[in-house]
Amino acid sequence: MTTSGATRTSFSGWRWFSRPVRWVRDGGAGVAALLYPAECARCGAATRWGVVVCGACVDRLPRVEDPVCRQCGEALANPSLDLCPRCGTRVRGFDRAISLGPYDDGWRELLHAFKFAREKAVGRWFARELGSRLVAEGERVDVVTHVPMTRSEERARGFNPSRFLARATARRLGLPARRLLAKVRVTMPQRALSARERETNLRDAFRGVRSGRGVVLLVDDLLTTGATADECARTLKEAGFDRVVVLTVAHT
Ligand SMILES: [Zn+2]
Ligand SMILES: [Zn+2]
Repeated sequence: MTTSGATRTSFSGWRWFSRPVRWVRDGGAGVAALLYPAECARCGAATRWGVVVCGACVDRLPRVEDPVCRQCGEALANPSLDLCPRCGTRVRGFDRAISLGPYDDGWRELLHAFKFAREKAVGRWFARELGSRLVAEGERVDVVTHVPMTRSEERARGFNPSRFLARATARRLGLPARRLLAKVRVTMPQRALSARERETNLRDAFRGVRSGRGVVLLVDDLLTTGATADECARTLKEAGFDRVVVLTVAHT
């Protein structure tokens, strides 16, 4: 894998650590592993070689606690219901969404390191966690895909975090990663819009690029309102797929 030329932002000791890591991984002298001890991407504590987030930080990362909405995985304020207000009042495109945890300090910091400092080791760590979580949830899927960006959006970001996570998660699961969707126009972040603007913002923003059957795993970094996942899932079902499971690192 090639290293990116992007500006790297400071993130604990990780920046200092990541360059020699790439050098070793890319076939450089193994002695660097001894010269540059590994650090936790979250707290900077020394870790065993290959450990990206230390055990103490993993234990401190919050998980979404039961009871959760059976469709979107959000923690339920009212435990006597099995759907959150959003899923209970509208038809969703996806069948189920699963997240590793709530979008609070711990997950947010790691996501920022991955998305904005492009710490790909953190992305691969996410993929390992995502794969384990999917297996633990007992979900069987046939193909893995990502939320596409337009060319200009991807140029502005430098890479597509969703595609990176989808490919890495597919590798962990031994499943094919396929580009099933294309984004055909630029959209606004849903959170910045009024309710009425949100309705039209994503309409026809995606199109299917290949048809198929079976269960699709749609991997993304963050689930907010779920509107993007809904629109992608609807497009996938129009292309013939039977079921769409959404898997994200965090859930707001
Ligand atoms: Zn740590
Ligand atoms: Zn829900």
